[in-house]
Amino acid sequence: MAFELPKLPYDYNALEPHIDEQTMTIHHTKHHQGYTDKLNAAIKGTELEGKSIEEILKSVGSASKAVRNNGGGFYNHDLFWQVMSPNGGGEPSGELAEAINKAFGSYADFKTKFEEAAKTQFGSGWAWLIVKADGSLAVTGTPNQDNPLMDIATEKGTPVLGIDVWEHAYYLKYQNKRPDYVGAFWNVVNWDKVAENYAAAK
Ligand code: MN
Repeated sequence: MAFELPKLPYDYNALEPHIDEQTMTIHHTKHHQGYTDKLNAAIKGTELEGKSIEEILKSVGSASKAVRNNGGGFYNHDLFWQVMSPNGGGEPSGELAEAINKAFGSYADFKTKFEEAAKTQFGSGWAWLIVKADGSLAVTGTPNQDNPLMDIATEKGTPVLGIDVWEHAYYLKYQNKRPDYVGAFWNVVNWDKVAENYAAAK
């Protein structure tokens, strides 16, 4: 059973003006589709075929580079689409808000830390909010299509929020101004989904 490109939970223009329609269309139909197809090709006929994406990522250190790059790309974008929404923005509440305050001091301090991770990721990569093995929250970054579920990650955990900082995620609208894209991202963050991810991961 091959992996399939997940449907976007909203229209390509739904995140305007923060993330533009053309970027969303290319990002989903070309980039994410490409990772999906290449992942399927890389695992076909191997022992990884039929495993869940989480299982594949857990042992990616002993897999091929194609599995690492495209398995990460498949998983990362699936999470990314889900943690955004046209009805997003605002601030987290409930248990998630409490956990953020406990880990970072305040929501503002968390935001600063997450933005810093996104802005300082050299070249292509991702910034994450993760739940660590002990249940606490942390902010981390990964290069390329790596992610904190991978056995090769420096800081491991379950991602509950992530931002794609590859140029393909923002260049058409923001050109070289990655910080502007990162700032705009907060307007579309789906905190209900992040809270759901947190509840499932902790
Ligand atoms: Mn991307």
